[in-house]
Amino acid sequence: MNIHEHQAKEIFNKFNIKTPNGVVVFSIEDIEKKIKVLKTSSLVLKAQIHAGGRGKAGGVKIVKNKKELIYQATTLLGKNLITHQTGKEGTEVKRLYIEETCDIEKEFYLSCLVDRSSSKIAFISSNEGGVNIEEVSKKSPEKIITTKIEFSKNVSEKNIIDILKPFNLPKKLKKKASDLIQSIFKILVEKDASQIEINPLVLTKDEDLLCLDAKINFDDNALYKHPDILSLKDFNEEDSAETEASKHGLAYIKLDGEIGCMVNGAGLAMATMDIIKLYGSEPANFLDVGGGASKEKVSAAFKIILSDKNVKGILINIFGGIMRCDVLAKGIVEVAKEKNISVPLVIRLAGTNVELGKKILSESKLKIISASNLEDAAQKIIEAIK
Ligand code: ADP
Ligand code: MG
Repeated sequence: MNIHEHQAKEIFNKFNIKTPNGVVVFSIEDIEKKIKVLKTSSLVLKAQIHAGGRGKAGGVKIVKNKKELIYQATTLLGKNLITHQTGKEGTEVKRLYIEETCDIEKEFYLSCLVDRSSSKIAFISSNEGGVNIEEVSKKSPEKIITTKIEFSKNVSEKNIIDILKPFNLPKKLKKKASDLIQSIFKILVEKDASQIEINPLVLTKDEDLLCLDAKINFDDNALYKHPDILSLKDFNEEDSAETEASKHGLAYIKLDGEIGCMVNGAGLAMATMDIIKLYGSEPANFLDVGGGASKEKVSAAFKIILSDKNVKGILINIFGGIMRCDVLAKGIVEVAKEKNISVPLVIRLAGTNVELGKKILSESKLKIISASNLEDAAQKIIEAIK
């Protein structure tokens, strides 16, 4: 799960990490009242969306006075901001963060993440932070330093020296920078974050260290432990089909292809997507209906798949292990009749009571194409949508 910059900064502040003073606003009327607590008239207006690259896309504006602030806020609020991370449609700006500006001497990059390949926590630091970090990583990867830390251990003095090395900070900031690293590590572990990114972390002209941007991603599987984090979820930023799926206990991820997939088991779901690609088409989604796909779950799965306008055909691939194929076939037939499915439907069943399941499908009078194995299923659905 992602959260907004202003929410991440609030968490930072609770862990004694310094950020510029700021306020969040949801409407133009909010502004006047809320900015009273800010101490400078030179302010930064920042679109709050769950995507980076806002600076380059016009989503971060520096303003010198209230008149400019209101003008820029009026142009940004309600606008669809398109950044290189939002996709073509962009994301509607529904809230703005207004914060005090600071005089920047140097911008750094600092992040901390769970590094799955090494099973460690990795800190990534670079003295070339800011809006061009992607180019730095492409053109001069040697400027990006990775420091790995064992999960079970704490951040050592040596780790801190390695992480901070590229910043070449003035001596008086060493303690502050070291505390910052420890706090970030603490947030990652205590809050089950998978990634924390500060870009830029800045050295100010008056020799202070400040986080100007803040991004935190949380591990969805650990959210049940953190109701405080869960309450920060912004449903405007979530895919509505994915939210609907999670309500029914379905693991669904929307993709860009044309073949809707309904599969039981994550491994089989991935194999199904692979084989669709192998035969030249693209899956519209990943969908794992789970072990005991009930009628209710199959029904919700159909509804979610069909809500995607790109879907031209559906491939159902079920292996009946604990679940019996005949029970499942009955469920599919009932739901398919109710939903009046207008796109081609290919079903591959295997496992317990498979013959009985196939009989139910063939006697259903529905336009169902039966497949005998994965290759056959992929070829048949691709042929059917031509
Ligand atoms: P994004 O990463 O989405 O582009 P940032 O929050 O990193 O958005 O802002 C982009 C740039 O705007 C920063 O690299 C920094 O140069 C400038 N900026 C952001 N906040 C401030 C601030 N409070 N004071 C001065 N400059 C800022
Ligand atoms: Mg940034």
